[in-house]
Amino acid sequence: MDKKFLLLRPLAVWMIFAGLLTLITTVAVTFIFGVLSSIVGFISLLFLVFLAAYEMATFRSIWIAQVGEWANIIKALGVSVVVRAVLLSLTFSAYGDGFTGSDRVLLDALFLLNVASILIEAGGLAFIFMKKQYFLPSQEEIDAVMRRLRAVGTTTVAECPTCRQLVEADWRCCPTCGTGLPKFCASCKAEVGGEDVKCPKCGADVVPTEAIESLIRTMKETAEQPAMPETRSVRYARYAEALLKGGRVEEAIEAYRQAIHYTKFVRKQTNFLVKMATIYKNTGKQKEAAELLNAAIELDSEDIAGARKALEDLMAPVAGDGTKTVKA
Ligand SMILES: [Zn+2]
Ligand SMILES: [Zn+2]
Repeated sequence: MDKKFLLLRPLAVWMIFAGLLTLITTVAVTFIFGVLSSIVGFISLLFLVFLAAYEMATFRSIWIAQVGEWANIIKALGVSVVVRAVLLSLTFSAYGDGFTGSDRVLLDALFLLNVASILIEAGGLAFIFMKKQYFLPSQEEIDAVMRRLRAVGTTTVAECPTCRQLVEADWRCCPTCGTGLPKFCASCKAEVGGEDVKCPKCGADVVPTEAIESLIRTMKETAEQPAMPETRSVRYARYAEALLKGGRVEEAIEAYRQAIHYTKFVRKQTNFLVKMATIYKNTGKQKEAAELLNAAIELDSEDIAGARKALEDLMAPVAGDGTKTVKA
């Protein structure tokens, strides 16, 4: 157990007792010692029941040193000290009436217990006031929260940095344009490099999530089933997208080749060629991209798929960096 609890736990228990003491003392000074007239006493009683409940309510937050409760505990202890001072003065004033016997014993007991309580409450107030750090989250807890936040960030949808299409956290590549997406370790949520097979932070195996692997299997089976050629073409294109989500770029390119193979429509073929070229471009294969775009332009002179524009973009020198310029 953390040593901070050595003082917090007894103080927490005392706060329950202090609440009860507040109630008992109020009842006693009103109905036994007659310090308060019964009307005032009754109103005070209602008020003090509320305060007693307030004191007792701090039990839990003190007991577990609840993060974020420091200010509330300080407030509650401050109120307790004030209430205790009032109760002490009421009890003290009863001594003037010369009670004897069991009444006197009760009066002494209440007075002493309230003295003890005000010392403990004031001491507890000073102690907790100085130990604000007990009620701040530990570095471990902060780290855990940050990890959870990052985990939340990775399970929600984000944007592909290249084509701005929505992508999901566990996708390895954008299914639209093939851009590699940041990967996160499934166990510690740290970002891992594209080539990492083990998480550099926690050492867990970096494996594609089962959801994507099963999607890929399903799409593969579907694509390979006998069907009308145009249907198979569409299915291979879907399979290619699933493969991209799993980061299997080369297999995705191959699936697009199948999609081209199964369609007899030139414009579908050129569309697939432009897609493949985009994937090549975004995975650093400018030369292959240029070849496919040139092939697309040859196939469809009207270039509905926009291969010429894509080729121009591909060949355009990047400002301040000529490395992306490619000779077709
Ligand atoms: Zn994209
Ligand atoms: Zn990890």
